[in-house]
Amino acid sequence: MQIKINRGTNQIGGCITEIESSKGTKIIIDIGSNLPDSEGRKKPEIELEGLTKGVPNYKAIFITHYHGDHIGLYNKVVPDIPIYIGEVSKQIYKIVQTRLSKANLVEREDLERISKFRTFNIKDKIIIDDIKITPIAVDHSAFDSYMFLIEADRKKVLHTGDFRTHGQRGKAVLAAVKKYVGKVDCLICEGTTLTRDKSKILTEFELQKEAEKIFNENKYNFVLCSSTNIDRIAAIHKATLKNHKMFICDDYQCDLLEYINTISRSNLYKFNDADNIKDTKVYRYAPNMLKKMEKYGFVMLVRANAKFAKFLKMFENNAFIYSEWHGYLTGTNEDYKRIQDFVPKDNIYLHTSGHATPEAIKEVINITNPKYVIPIHTEDKEKIKELTDKAVILDDGEEFIVS
Ligand SMILES: [Zn+2]
Ligand SMILES: [Zn+2]
Repeated sequence: MQIKINRGTNQIGGCITEIESSKGTKIIIDIGSNLPDSEGRKKPEIELEGLTKGVPNYKAIFITHYHGDHIGLYNKVVPDIPIYIGEVSKQIYKIVQTRLSKANLVEREDLERISKFRTFNIKDKIIIDDIKITPIAVDHSAFDSYMFLIEADRKKVLHTGDFRTHGQRGKAVLAAVKKYVGKVDCLICEGTTLTRDKSKILTEFELQKEAEKIFNENKYNFVLCSSTNIDRIAAIHKATLKNHKMFICDDYQCDLLEYINTISRSNLYKFNDADNIKDTKVYRYAPNMLKKMEKYGFVMLVRANAKFAKFLKMFENNAFIYSEWHGYLTGTNEDYKRIQDFVPKDNIYLHTSGHATPEAIKEVINITNPKYVIPIHTEDKEKIKELTDKAVILDDGEEFIVS
């Protein structure tokens, strides 16, 4: 079995990993676009023969999760190569991209391409000729994210995608790796936090407790977080209900949460906007609610746009929680500027990473006991050597044979 990291050995995001069996079956894990740097510059995108141009040379593409740095180039893939993604991931991605298409930011053909994505569920086994792929559900800031166990030529490779163990479902990640993966020959592991700041990382539960305190002290609260970071929204939702305040979203956010509500059997994700269900209630914003909001107090999920800026003015005496990556508040990128103009100077920063801490990476290494550990999704791949003596440091495009 051969591994080639087409991109992702020297950067966070833009991941494209290639696995080839000895019979020549080739699959791709993730087809991410480059993240812009803090000045808004994006490196030119990659072109790969048989993948984004020419005659199809890959049997399938597997997407770990719906973040753009893992899925963003799906519309560049030559049409005959099937793209597989988690069933729920696909629906969430479709809701988000449909909204963007209404603002002419996504083409109609792209929506059609998304509709054609093939899907899998937890623990399905997908056979692509002589390669077997098993998706293992993980905890990440995107809902329905997966690691992939890839088996061919009597070798096992685990590709972690993005994951963490400090979220609400964090403990389940290591248990699943133990139960469904075990020892592997090679581990391809994300290394985002090998360089990002080393300050103490809050668990999602600790963050929820912090939010509870803030909502207790402030009648009117606004929270800016990613509309698809469902675990974060669940934490904010629970903290709101503990304080008996109204949890308010606009139509788009409500539609997303309602979808989660219909598919999730877990008590972690109960969002209901039906009138009779008080303990999980989500209010769909309507202008006739303003009086009630003023009277009872509320927590509103917002995005950086004029529609929500109006509410900030209306309820001036508010607490504003900024719950996304702090880097958006400093860069000179145009998109970041929009966020910076929106977020009040006296915002409360309350966020925790969606990525595995070095300790979590170490635990996955211990459980899987690999012969080789290849770091990706990192700005300092050499740092993996601090966690393992099995490190294999590759460059983009370099081939590595799992022996
Ligand atoms: Zn990523
Ligand atoms: Zn991600």
